[in-house]
Amino acid sequence: MSNSPESPLDFSYETRPARVVFRPGAAVSATPAEAARLGLHRVLVICGSRGEDVARSVADALGDSCAGVHAGARMHVPAEVADRAVEAAREVGADGCVAVGGGSAIGLGKAVALRTGLPLIAVPTTYSGSEMTSVWGLTEHGAKRTGRDPSVQPRSVVYDPGLTLALPVPLSVTSGVNALAHAVEALYAPDASPLVSLMAEEGVRAMTGALRRVAEAPGDLEARGRALYGAWLCGACLGATTMGLHHKLCHVLGGTFGLPHAETHTVVLPYALAYNAAAAPQAIAALSRALDTDDVPHALRQFAGDLGAPRTLAELGLKESDLSRAAAEVATESYPNPREVTAHGVLGLLTAAYEGWEPRAGGE
Ligand code: NAD
Repeated sequence: MSNSPESPLDFSYETRPARVVFRPGAAVSATPAEAARLGLHRVLVICGSRGEDVARSVADALGDSCAGVHAGARMHVPAEVADRAVEAAREVGADGCVAVGGGSAIGLGKAVALRTGLPLIAVPTTYSGSEMTSVWGLTEHGAKRTGRDPSVQPRSVVYDPGLTLALPVPLSVTSGVNALAHAVEALYAPDASPLVSLMAEEGVRAMTGALRRVAEAPGDLEARGRALYGAWLCGACLGATTMGLHHKLCHVLGGTFGLPHAETHTVVLPYALAYNAAAAPQAIAALSRALDTDDVPHALRQFAGDLGAPRTLAELGLKESDLSRAAAEVATESYPNPREVTAHGVLGLLTAAYEGWEPRAGGE
């Protein structure tokens, strides 16, 4: 869709069927019914080691429909971790999976779905948005591969704000900004459309408002619900569009340089947006409305910093000597972006994010 406000409407929009149940307590009260709707009688519950208690309560609620719990999820789905989960699903004769956790647990559930074709139910405990997409990721020999496949899109998503009460504030903030990044890039994506833009603007408004409240009162269930609602909208934007420079940068910084996922999104987003701002006026207008500001990159950086998030790539462990290598890697790959991506331009962006300079429109 064109970024000019005067342009005639011209877009394609495709959405995949996904059922969403959203209510406090739903992990335990609604997951068994969701499994039954899909005709599942032997589900494998998948989680990470830190999320095992919550996953076990979901497994208990599933009763005889639960064939086992596999607590093997790890960040970025290493191939051997996926192999073990597939084996576990085969060993218990699973007819489906329920992933309980953040993007890592859901990512592992997707890897099992990709390899076995088993249907997946997602019960998210962070704001990553992975549950709303058909995007899978696998890490092998130090490189992360991603792809899209309809078989990995969760058939049903159970949003239970109660599960996020224990998500520490720093993780809540960075995970929430990770969600914002999906909405931001959906606004200037080549396959943007009016409905996606509405979801993106509302997602940004809901998430930023909620995160301020969560930071003040992490136990505020209503604020947690608003944040999860924002995550749903932002995740749906990610599922419906093709991401640009920002996601590519974070993919390279995480995959090649080992930087942490949500924190990297949080530091980079204001700079990527500053780089693209002049080429994406409609996106900037929507974000200005949602954030009530006339300087969106500055406001985003201020917002995350005020809530205690990291502000520089240096803080996340990137070395100054890695900047040119990262810029070159990002610039050589092709992906849609409203502004031309050059190694020189990306190096300017990364240097500013490394040092923590004020993000400036133009990005260099
Ligand atoms: P994560 O799932 O790794 O979770 C981060 C940490 O928080 C973990 O230690 C986890 O145990 C803990 N945690 C999760 N929920 C918790 C809770 N409620 N209370 C306390 N601790 C909790 O991190 P993430 O940011 O959710 O996901 C990142 C991964 O997801 C990355 O691999 C990323 O590539 C992937 N991802 C994929 C998509 C997609 O569409 N495929 C979208 C976004 C992210």
